[in-house]
This record gives sequence, structure tokens and C-alpha cells, in this order.
Amino acid sequence: MATFIVLLGPPGVGKGTQAEILANTINLAHISSGDLFRENMKNQTELGRLAKSFMDKGELVPDDLTIAMIRDRIKHPDCEMGAILDGFPRTPTQADALAVMLAEFGGKVDAVPYITADENVIVERISGRWTCRAQGHIYNEKTSLPKQKGICDIDGSELYQRDDDKATMVSKRIHVYFEQTMPLVEYYRTKGLLIETDGMQPVEKVTSDLLSTLKK
Ligand code: AMP
Repeated sequence: MATFIVLLGPPGVGKGTQAEILANTINLAHISSGDLFRENMKNQTELGRLAKSFMDKGELVPDDLTIAMIRDRIKHPDCEMGAILDGFPRTPTQADALAVMLAEFGGKVDAVPYITADENVIVERISGRWTCRAQGHIYNEKTSLPKQKGICDIDGSELYQRDDDKATMVSKRIHVYFEQTMPLVEYYRTKGLLIETDGMQPVEKVTSDLLSTLKK
């Protein structure tokens, strides 16, 4: 039976970093909706062009486009054993759609780790974040420097600062998170799936907390 884990939490809390580690550790696919949109933008697809107009403003891409993109991704064979979902769902409509699409494949959301951190920590982390151009690996000026400045340790590609990580966009994205995504905390809490995790701890400690709660 496949396992589907939804990582919830504000932008910059470490969902991407943890999703990558967890996916490798427990052998599940890592689905990042933000990475999928950025890939579409890089490949100049119609979806990428549409998504860019919302991402550039720090707004959410409309539900129908986002849901269709995830539905396509979840059908890939690497998701047969399940996936860690990072950045999706972000609205109650997306959460309902996820439940329906997983049910079609005979699955369900099994656990929802909710990673928390104070707003000032999030802002600081986002503004220090550098992302690898090839595969989206994440570094941070203060907490996880690459071995060689500006170069990804894993694939050697260039590191860049995402446009929407620049200071002017960060408060908008946090506002959008509180308004549109926060309702999912209660949504999953009432289903008994929410597992709160302190995201202000060192990366390794967050990972070990997540792994121990997911094993239960
Ligand atoms: P992220 O990489 O998760 O921070 O996402 C970057 C941007 O992609 C967001 O600010 C949104 O514009 C868009 N995005 C990512 N995931 C979603 C989603 N589930 N629903 C709508 N928009 C999304």
C-alpha cells in the first residue's frame, strides 16, 4: 500500500529540505509543486507562462491548474510506493482534490507533519536561501553553505536567489500563507493526521523528530 505524506508549514520553514531528506530515507517520491512550476517556467511551457504571472506577484497559482499538474505527476511510476508532498495542497480545495485523486489510486493522506517556526526566523531563512538551478537543491547563507560559493555540492550547477525569495516578495507570500493555507492546519487536525514539529531546531533534529513520529 502506498504512503502519502503532506508537509505543511509556512514558506521558508524547511519543507523542501526535509522533503528531500525524508524521500531519500524512506524511499518515496518527492513532489514539490513549486519546483514543478519552476521547471515549467524554465521549459517555457504554457503552464509555466501562466504560473509565472502569479508567482511573480507572490500569489498562488489557481487551483485548477495546480491540481491538474499534481494529478499528472502522481501518475508517474516513481509514486507507486507513495510520495512526500511539499507545497501541495495549499488550499482546502486542493486538499479535497488530493483526497479524491489518491482514493482513485487506492491511497490516502497518511500523515501531515506541520513544521512551525517564528515569522522572523522564516523571513531570515528565505532571504538567505540559494537554490540550485538544475534540481532545486537548497542552501542557506547562514546555516548550510555549499562547499564552493555559488555552486551546488550535489550536481555542480549554479546557485541563484529565487525572484520570489527577494525581500519585497517575502511578506506577501507569508500573508498569502496565513490567509489561504493556514485553514489546512485545522482541516488535517480534525482528521487526526496533523503532527506538529518544531522547525526552529537544527535540520538534523527536525529530520529525526519527523522520522520518529512517522514511524508511530
Ligand atoms: P514554493 O516553491 O513552494 O515556495 O512555491 C513557489 C510559488 O509557486 C508559490 O508562491 C506559488 O505562486 C506557486 N505554488 C507552489 N505550490 C502551489 C500550490 N500548491 N498552489 C498554488 N500555487 C503554488
